Amino acid sequence: MPTRSKLGQNFLRDSRAVGRIVTALGDLDGHTVVEIGPGRGAITGALAAKAAHVVAVEFDRELAAPLRSQFPSERVSIVEQDVLEFDFAAARAQAGARLRVAGNLPYYITSPILRKLAASHASLDTAVLMVQREVGDRVTASPGSRDYGLLSVLVQAHGPVEPLFTLPPEAFTPPPQVHSTVLRWRFAPRFQELGVEESGFLRFVGRAFAQKRKTLANNLRAAGVAPAPALAMRQAGIDAQARAESLSIELLAAVWRTLSAELAGKKGESS
Ligand code: SAM
Repeated sequence: MPTRSKLGQNFLRDSRAVGRIVTALGDLDGHTVVEIGPGRGAITGALAAKAAHVVAVEFDRELAAPLRSQFPSERVSIVEQDVLEFDFAAARAQAGARLRVAGNLPYYITSPILRKLAASHASLDTAVLMVQREVGDRVTASPGSRDYGLLSVLVQAHGPVEPLFTLPPEAFTPPPQVHSTVLRWRFAPRFQELGVEESGFLRFVGRAFAQKRKTLANNLRAAGVAPAPALAMRQAGIDAQARAESLSIELLAAVWRTLSAELAGKKGESS
């Protein structure tokens, strides 16, 4: 059967890597795992051997049908759907506990999938995900490094993420043009500890990183978030010329706490 490169179909053929992915999810006894993009089932079978239930979400009809024959067990449900439309909250409710997630991701939609998982964090426990190595570097980057940016903050704000191992292109059929990294992401959102409300803070972060070469103050002014962000930055102990790429999540939260309090005060004055 031909593979559809448009759908990011690079099938894993390294059985040791399959074992390491499943092991990285921890003890699966009694747990439900959602697998993103089961493809030809390279990881699905190993998950089904350990978990109570595997919900495998595959977009390609031509792969979903054979998967149903390959895994007739009630422990495996093949859902033919775009994972970006998948209802993790409903799956969690059905499972009765937070979900584990596994996937050798279709790389063309890695960022949207990471955003979807972040938005579904209340339903999730741990995700073990294969991503393009460069994306793995961005997701796990520290402030001030070349790779640190919006994706790093978005993911890390929802819990710690660590790179587990890297695979060369030859570990897949057909080989992709890039190396791949397997990440483990434990969902433990930091918003309460940071003293910020999730959606407002994430909107702020999106604007803070809007243009890479601009300073934080200029990005916030351009987005209309704050006409004079200097005071909030000073209060957080941040240089007025700082760029968002140099700031930790804690410092970004400190700026947003001051700015959102200022904005709430102004709203109160004008009403
Ligand atoms: N898990 C298999 C493996 O490791 O061999 C396949 C991984 S392959 C990199 C990505 C899989 O995701 C393909 O089976 C592809 O059809 C599927 N896929 C692509 N876009 C998808 C989407 N929007 N929702 C769900 N699955 C998708």
